[in-house]
Amino acid sequence: GLRVGVLALQGDFREHAQVLRALGANVALVRRSEELLQVDGLVIPGGESSVMDKLARTFGLAEPLRAAIRGGLPVYGTCAGLIMLADTILGGMNGQQSLGGLDIAVRRNAFGSQTASFETDLDIPALGEKPVHAVFIRAPIVETVGHRATALATLADGRCVAVEQGNLLGTSFHPEITGEYRFHQYFLQKLVAAAR
Ligand code: GLN
Repeated sequence: GLRVGVLALQGDFREHAQVLRALGANVALVRRSEELLQVDGLVIPGGESSVMDKLARTFGLAEPLRAAIRGGLPVYGTCAGLIMLADTILGGMNGQQSLGGLDIAVRRNAFGSQTASFETDLDIPALGEKPVHAVFIRAPIVETVGHRATALATLADGRCVAVEQGNLLGTSFHPEITGEYRFHQYFLQKLVAAAR
């Protein structure tokens, strides 16, 4: 069967693993490059992208991750994970690097201190009629969507908070903590399609 990895260097990887298991997926936590080679897709969780970047480089995972993304591995990033997947980071820590893959520019901590965390409902036609209840926690915003990427969801003011590009998927918010399974389901379909 297919195996979905969750990058477990830092952040809310347990919540992702729980959602994926609830959907019946075979889940493996990924901390080493050998483990990366054994999965058919990968979730990069929320957390702190600058720390995740440092740990990925320290543990020799950054280059293997880039190679896997280039090779077409399905990858879904939430919040810090979306930042990791962005080709361009705006407002990154000194020397912060992303893995890249998504043709987007993402601004870290894009919402001011008062609204650093908020919740809202989003219409996402690709996921069906029922709106997605989205929780934003010191969230990034997708400031530029390049021509290779597609916006999946926008806030009422038009700013983009979810994107898709081939086998890559990214959201500014955290479906893994609200009982919202449709993004993970949508992602698992990419694994099935990629494995064919
Ligand atoms: N602010 C965090 C960062 O820049 C992301 C927050 C999150 O993942 N909830 O990495």
